Amino acid sequence: PVVLGIESSCDETGVGIVRDGKLLAHVVASSMDEHARFGGVVPEIAARAHLHAFNPVVRRALDEAGLRLSGIDAVAVTTGPGLSGALQVGLAGAKTLAYAAGVPLYGVHHLAGHVAADTLEHGPLPEPCVVLIVSGGHTSLLLVRDLVREPILHLGDTRDDAAGECFDKVARILGLPYPGGPAIDRAARDGDPKAVVFPRPLTRPGDDPYAFSFSGLKTAAARWVEQHRLRGAEPSVADGAAALQEAVADVLTRKALAACRAYDVKTLVVVGGVAANSRVRALAERRCASAGIGLRVPPMTLCTDNGAMIAAVGDLLVRAGAEPAPLDVTIDPSAPLEYACLTPLPAAS
Ligand code: ATP
Ligand code: MG
Ligand code: FE
Repeated sequence: PVVLGIESSCDETGVGIVRDGKLLAHVVASSMDEHARFGGVVPEIAARAHLHAFNPVVRRALDEAGLRLSGIDAVAVTTGPGLSGALQVGLAGAKTLAYAAGVPLYGVHHLAGHVAADTLEHGPLPEPCVVLIVSGGHTSLLLVRDLVREPILHLGDTRDDAAGECFDKVARILGLPYPGGPAIDRAARDGDPKAVVFPRPLTRPGDDPYAFSFSGLKTAAARWVEQHRLRGAEPSVADGAAALQEAVADVLTRKALAACRAYDVKTLVVVGGVAANSRVRALAERRCASAGIGLRVPPMTLCTDNGAMIAAVGDLLVRAGAEPAPLDVTIDPSAPLEYACLTPLPAAS
């Protein structure tokens, strides 16, 4: 099937088109610049920006795929989790398109989209697999048995900040621009990751092996900066960035590999915005290689929010024979990730 996917849960208006697992179009407009001076996403601004971007982005995606609306077999849309105003705009647009084209509509869980992003580059997921989702709002270890047919098993989540949030907040402490993740990645290139050793939260024996905690790193970074300033010195931003990246990458990959071993799974999939981080990618590669575990990480442009990943889930749902959503389906800003699809599926056979 040809599926058009729509993503609007945060500050990216993304529209992607997928045909039988193959990417045909991938267009993203971001309102990130409009939020930069506030140091974070402003929900009302994001919702209005989606409204402005929606039609042009849909048109560009159709052009890129060389299709008209009549060439679409289904529409998939993020119905949660995310900012409610932002989600509303995407869902209203998706309903309109589905109704106008006379095709079924599928409600998709945003995080299932992040997982499915990888299939657009590397083909069907080798299930079961362990998935490490590291994004601006989430940090979770999942056991995925069949993305659209089976419930997703949560092995662990963050107890406080997400990894991306940690990058964003520490970047602010270090005086780096928003969004912090990419800025830290760039600054870290010139830094020494051993110049300071930041804590590795929840890695002691007896700690939950799959739970994360990143809020302490903020405090550690702030104290490190403060200690320099008390001596009348300025800390090296490059060193701070490199050390933070090292601490986060170390904890993430250590726990992900522990999960692969414990569940005897041969593939680790790392997805979400923080999967774009160069140190996370490099350390995951090295540790997976030495453990004999296969690693899959989507290309950078599919790691951050986009509509193609939502189309990818929609495509899987159509092929699995999932029940479409009714046209009065609503958003769920805090949807827990249990099923990829937010509408019912026939029982797996
Ligand atoms: P969620 O998916 O949990 O709802 P989100 O959609 O806002 O959150 P994503 O778009 O997946 O999150 O990712 C954005 C996050 O990724 C931001 O926190 C950003 O700082 C981080 N990020 C992006 N690139 C990098 C990088 N190179 N290094 C570290 N972090 C990065
Ligand atoms: Mg974003
Ligand atoms: Fe996301």
